Amino acid sequence: SVPAICIDGPTASGKGTLAVEVAHALGYHYLDSGALYRVTGLAMRRAGLEPTPANEARISALARTLPLRFDAGKAMLAGEDVTDAIRSEAAGMDASRVSALPSVRAALTTLQVGFRQLPGLVADGRDMGTVIFPDAPLKVFLTASAAHRAERRYKQLISKGISTTLDSLRSDLEARDLRDSSRSVAPLKPAEDARRLDNSSLSIEQSVEQVLNWWQE
Ligand code: C5P
Repeated sequence: SVPAICIDGPTASGKGTLAVEVAHALGYHYLDSGALYRVTGLAMRRAGLEPTPANEARISALARTLPLRFDAGKAMLAGEDVTDAIRSEAAGMDASRVSALPSVRAALTTLQVGFRQLPGLVADGRDMGTVIFPDAPLKVFLTASAAHRAERRYKQLISKGISTTLDSLRSDLEARDLRDSSRSVAPLKPAEDARRLDNSSLSIEQSVEQVLNWWQE
């Protein structure tokens, strides 16, 4: 079957950066599954809907027919570049809320599975190894302390000129982790056969090297 590497973990653990680098090193495709939930959240807001269970059928209908394309690392929704719009903390919270709705997750499954194409895929998210690609030969569960994660997210946002505080970021990411880990469908947890990697005191290069070493074993 087509090679796949799954990188799952909590908010701001550095999954995205690690997955992009590993995909680049191997010449594989890359799936940012969180972006699909973020775009669904944005499409929901634009349709004037709130992320509530009462709206589940309408939100999952939007997810099933998302006019979404990835073009040179940009997320395009119906031809509009939404790359920046989906990165805000509010968009992350909306993504977390819509992602707890079972029929929304089901609606996005086929789309995700379709990314697994030759020569291979590196996928990052919360349930890549547990639900979407359960047969993947390498699954990594990436963690870092909440303090490290808040600090990284803070630097990212400040560098984009978005003003925020460390305290509000930390409480946002802890709220999101709690929701992601306690939901009934596809809760955030390591796959049984996942390798654990805590990158709190590792550089990006060291984390990439560790994953590539596991892949070559
Ligand atoms: O990874 P990212 O922060 O972009 O994901 C946004 C939200 O989407 C997460 O907080 C999580 O609730 C949800 N998500 C998910 N399953 C995935 C990827 C993201 O539930 N595979």
